[in-house]
Amino acid sequence: MDYKKNIDKVLYDRDILAARVVEVGRQIRADYAGKDLVAVTVLKGAFVFAADLIRAIDLPMAVDFAEIISYGEGTEIAEEVVLTKDVAVNVKGRDVLIVEDIVDTGLTTAFLVDHLRIRDPRSIQICALLYKPAMQRVEVPLRYVCFEVGDVFAVGYGLDYAGQYRNLPDIVTLKEIPPEE
Ligand code: 5GP
Repeated sequence: MDYKKNIDKVLYDRDILAARVVEVGRQIRADYAGKDLVAVTVLKGAFVFAADLIRAIDLPMAVDFAEIISYGEGTEIAEEVVLTKDVAVNVKGRDVLIVEDIVDTGLTTAFLVDHLRIRDPRSIQICALLYKPAMQRVEVPLRYVCFEVGDVFAVGYGLDYAGQYRNLPDIVTLKEIPPEE
């Protein structure tokens, strides 16, 4: 089956994404000039976004990665969030910018913020590709947002459905909506 046949609508095409990422990158550059920036990309969903974003931030910076897997999204009970890859760089006294794919309930991001705060960075902020304000359950320091979206399930540009569609250059919705877990 052609996986592209399951695409419903294009939410943000590659040109809109490229333009917005450059805009946000410039904003970050202005805010972080003279600081000690460490960009922490959350795997796997944010890897495509982060690759474009960091190249739009014309500043000295360190880059690192964390991988978080969360279970039980969409339920009212506390979700299980597991850190499967930790950051390796020392963030103490440095300005951490977490690069996220989507802030939905905020639980995954809040978990990473708490985890990194223990290591005493000077600051922690978040840059999210997509933000679903209607879904948010916990407060997180969300400083930069590329796009606010409603209650849709988005794939492409690094975002997956069942491990697929990360390689699509555009952000799209699917005809076949994934079942609630
Ligand atoms: P949160 O902990 O904020 O509820 O969930 C964030 C994570 O859920 C995101 O990093 C992402 O992996 C996943 N997620 C939430 N909404 C979507 C969506 O619309 N599309 C995809 N592909 N993943 C999503």
